[in-house]
Amino acid sequence: MGYTDPHCAESRPVAGPSGSRTTRGASRTRLANLHRGCVKVDGNGVRTSTQGSFSGTMVSAMSSSTTARAYWKPEEETLARPALEALQLERLKRTVARVCESVPLYRKKFEQAKVTPGDIRTLADLRRLPFTTGADLRESYPAGMLAVPLDDTLRLHTSSGTTGKPKALFFSRQDVDNAAELIARSFVAAGMTKRDIFQNMMTYGLFTGALVTHYGAEKIGCLVIPAGPGNSDRQLLLMQDFHTTSIHLTPSFALYFADVLEKRSIDPRKDLSLKRAFVGAEPHSEETRRKIEDALGLRVFNSYGLSEMNGPGVAFECQEQAGMHLWEDHYIMEIIDPESGEALPPGERGELVLTTLVREAMPILRYRTRDITSIVDAPCACGRTHRRIQRITGRADDMLIVRGVNIYPQQIERILMGVPKLGRNYVIVLEGFDEMTVKVELSEAGFDDQLEHVMALQNEIVGLLRAEILTKPNVDLVPPGTLPVSEGKAKRVIDNRKL
Ligand SMILES: [Zn+2]
Repeated sequence: MGYTDPHCAESRPVAGPSGSRTTRGASRTRLANLHRGCVKVDGNGVRTSTQGSFSGTMVSAMSSSTTARAYWKPEEETLARPALEALQLERLKRTVARVCESVPLYRKKFEQAKVTPGDIRTLADLRRLPFTTGADLRESYPAGMLAVPLDDTLRLHTSSGTTGKPKALFFSRQDVDNAAELIARSFVAAGMTKRDIFQNMMTYGLFTGALVTHYGAEKIGCLVIPAGPGNSDRQLLLMQDFHTTSIHLTPSFALYFADVLEKRSIDPRKDLSLKRAFVGAEPHSEETRRKIEDALGLRVFNSYGLSEMNGPGVAFECQEQAGMHLWEDHYIMEIIDPESGEALPPGERGELVLTTLVREAMPILRYRTRDITSIVDAPCACGRTHRRIQRITGRADDMLIVRGVNIYPQQIERILMGVPKLGRNYVIVLEGFDEMTVKVELSEAGFDDQLEHVMALQNEIVGLLRAEILTKPNVDLVPPGTLPVSEGKAKRVIDNRKL
């Protein structure tokens, strides 16, 4: 049985005592293959390669940080940029022709935008195509955006919005397989092999989160435990009895589960076999990641996905943990200004827009995800050529415009949460002509009746916020427990401006 020996490949990078990563015991075969630069499938179904397209400086930088690199399909993951872009263009042309032919919504949008499939000659021509929005998907409910006969679909998922009809997402057999492929690729990028025991603590059902990762882990050959969310005692029992090495869950459940372990006096480093957690479905900060890593004694890998784009596996962190590789042979990404819709250059933060390239049942062009991120254009030390995106910092719907500057409440929250003398409760008040005041509670430890101390702290926070949001807010420090506490989702922004 697989669970009698849960240890994964010897070349697994591990967290060193100082938090730095080291690579121990890379297998001899694997190293020999690396020197020859060939592709070899090892006993774990994982391929290793030195194949890549980076310059000499990059290769030497890589060899210092990574002794053995594992890929699911190196030929796809390390494809040279020109070849990857040629593949994108070919797939884009095919997708545009298909939707124009078979989806009335797109035929109508193309007519309105006065564009035809023949107008797509380069990747830059993508910008001539109309956007697709969440409202388009809801209005097409149940099957208005289907590009194949219903008989050729295999699975239905839905994405529930907070208002109105859900979005229905159909998968063909090929779509189910492709979604699993991307998960296999992503999990292997995070160090997983067929020897891993994967406990899936996400919700199974209409939501894409658990089923898509389930199939991906099975593709690698892992033993999959479809635990679903909740029931911490059962989760713990499964982890102990089957030596679970990898878990998939939301960041909030991970923090809760860490508390449960503490209460049961379980030391995850000694008593469990956990090596990595895949977290997703909720935006979270780098600080939260490190907190989960410390509390559970494992490495946390961030991921990005949305039901409209097959669910999880759109973008995933590799072992470098420095941004998520967005799988560009399956999706084209753009970053736009959420207000004007204009394209923004790499490095600038804006709304992520995605176009599917191989989706069969339900291709979607230029989908406005409303998620805010930026593109990392620099090559990654792991050797993958697919560009990365930064962690999601908010939703376009949350954006505030103050004195002409785009501000996301999450930017302010991140700064406030990094100051130990501050509590967790805060509110952003906008008044008059773009006057912004951040009211924040002091923590019990930070509460001090010395006026000069409070003033100094206040000035420090004004400085930190100004550096982050590029405009100077007022900061009001208030005693602990004085701001209103809300049940459920807290109301963080009060906009009383008369604009
Ligand atoms: Zn990487």
